[in-house]
Amino acid sequence: MDFEISEKMKVILDMINEFVDKELIPLEQEFLHKEFKELLPVLREKREMVKQMELWAPNQPKGIGGMGLDLVEHGLVSEALGRTPIGHYVFNCQAPDAGNIEVLHKHGTDEQKEKYLVPLVNGDIRSCFSMTEVDMPGSNPIMLETTAVKDGSDYIINGHKWYTTSADGAEFAIVMAVTNPEASKYMQASMIIVPTKTEGFNLVRNIPVMGHEGSDYSSHGEILYQSCRVPQSNLLGPEGHGFVIAQERLGPGRIHHCMRWLGVCNRSFDLMCKRANERVITPDGKTLGTQQIIRAWIAESAAEIKAIRLMTLNAAWQIEKHGDKAARYDISFIKFVVANTVQKVIDRALQVHGGLGMTDDTIISYFYRHERAARIFDGADEVHKMSVAKKILRAHKEGGIRAALDI
Ligand SMILES: Cc1cc2nc3c(=O)[nH]c(=O)nc-3n(C[C@H](O)[C@H](O)[C@H](O)COP(=O)(O)OP(=O)(O)OC[C@H]3O[C@@H](n4cnc5c(N)ncnc54)[C@H](O)[C@@H]3O)c2cc1C
Repeated sequence: MDFEISEKMKVILDMINEFVDKELIPLEQEFLHKEFKELLPVLREKREMVKQMELWAPNQPKGIGGMGLDLVEHGLVSEALGRTPIGHYVFNCQAPDAGNIEVLHKHGTDEQKEKYLVPLVNGDIRSCFSMTEVDMPGSNPIMLETTAVKDGSDYIINGHKWYTTSADGAEFAIVMAVTNPEASKYMQASMIIVPTKTEGFNLVRNIPVMGHEGSDYSSHGEILYQSCRVPQSNLLGPEGHGFVIAQERLGPGRIHHCMRWLGVCNRSFDLMCKRANERVITPDGKTLGTQQIIRAWIAESAAEIKAIRLMTLNAAWQIEKHGDKAARYDISFIKFVVANTVQKVIDRALQVHGGLGMTDDTIISYFYRHERAARIFDGADEVHKMSVAKKILRAHKEGGIRAALDI
């Protein structure tokens, strides 16, 4: 495998890193102390700058207004943008819109593309993805209570969802609902586009998460769908194919998250090294960085960051080369390994900062609060571990150690 970063990508990454340092990191104190919606005017300006620099929507195809980067290239971009919590949003490659764009691009009708895909890629509107339910286990998503029942030329949707990230201020939701209860268990649900202005789409609240309700893009909605009527032409992809499409969306989505977490690791590690070098802890001028235990954390963090970077880029490369299905266990491996590493690195960075680490004077406490969710969404750690272990044991039984490690 060639690990060389192309000249084209070096230029792009230099431009992005400079932009993040000069334009976005200085905004973080405002981001930490104001509501997201108050930041929208300044974020709009930054988004315009990104468009002018032709770095907009890096992961989307050129034909629809993106940069057309492949998954490995976008992984590197995602790492650079992940150094700040507003990076992906400003470059219009943020979840859940990025995944929704992919689904609309692949499965949308011409009418759906014109109405939803075009303004989404332009950054004129936002969207959300509404699958997880309050009373059902998200870890086993085939257990859905939300239904979409046909009535004339419409669907009538009823259900109770939550963790519909970024629902506040979104133009539409892609809702997962049971349309074919008699079908086999993986073919019962469909994706349906529901404009948030539709009567019966009720945003109950932005759920308080780790002490913060958030607003607009930076929020997680609880939503009651109460006899919510939309035309059947809002069906996205074939009826009953909701899980098949969701699965397609998850592979690249996990690469994006993992590379974003690498960015979080890099930033936390950067702050940790700076503090270790600068914080004087003895009258004769010794710094924290002279202490063995801090040095061990620095060495361990550096090694772990290098390891997850290779694993994640390798998984992205596998997807590019052999497709999502062939790479599914690589994707599961990185999902739980990276999610745990990012927490270890943030925790060490926080500890090195002492009381300062607990404040919102640095970005570390924000990362500490928000990235805890890494081990829960897009498949909880345990679910990924169960799936790879099951496959490993089966492979071992059939082909011994080589087969087990080759899954
Ligand atoms: C910040 C954040 C953003 C999110 N954004 C979205 C979104 O935009 N749209 C959306 O639809 N959903 C979203 N979710 C929801 C997320 O997908 C679910 O929380 C996740 O799938 C887990 O489902 P659950 O919360 O119902 O937990 P459960 O399914 O109730 O599981 C609880 C815990 O049980 C354990 N567990 C589960 N199954 C097993 C098993 N087989 N073996 C061993 N242990 C197990 C795991 O530790 C798991 O964390 C988001 C969640 C968070 C935290």
